[in-house]
Amino acid sequence: MSQYQSILVAIDLSEDSTPVVERGRAIADHNGAELHLIHVIEPLSFAYGGDIPMDFSGIQEEIHQQATQQMRRFADSHNIDGQHQHILLGKPEVEIHSTAEELKTQLIVVGSHGRHGLALLMGSTANGVMHGAPCDVLAVRVGKLK
Ligand code: AMP
Repeated sequence: MSQYQSILVAIDLSEDSTPVVERGRAIADHNGAELHLIHVIEPLSFAYGGDIPMDFSGIQEEIHQQATQQMRRFADSHNIDGQHQHILLGKPEVEIHSTAEELKTQLIVVGSHGRHGLALLMGSTANGVMHGAPCDVLAVRVGKLK
């Protein structure tokens, strides 16, 4: 049996998503694995909840619809069907870990900007995903060094 039967590719829907999914696709094809995409929307209330007394539900719904459309377009262009597209609300690393567990994936693929110094201390999604991941994690170098 091949090492990876199910692979979860985390995308932020930026242009960096293409090299990340291409790497995931190459490994999936090599292993005959299923390829899933996940994008996590961070609730506005996480950032502003306590500070601004405002109802964010309308804006949040708009963000959700836009992300769903972008995910669909991106997934279509990589031949990934709707059942393999996951949009969740929450903290990216938490939702990526729990979706990996639910799907029983053996590999998570994320982009990494190779931050160092202060930027690294401030943390990154790739670092967050790597810590406490329920399976292997591949960090694909993307973008320019920051
Ligand atoms: P960052 O650390 O935010 O620069 O993001 C690095 C990588 O983490 C991205 O290339 C994606 O693989 C993943 N990532 C970042 N934000 C999200 C998100 N909201 N949903 C899913 N994956 C994400």
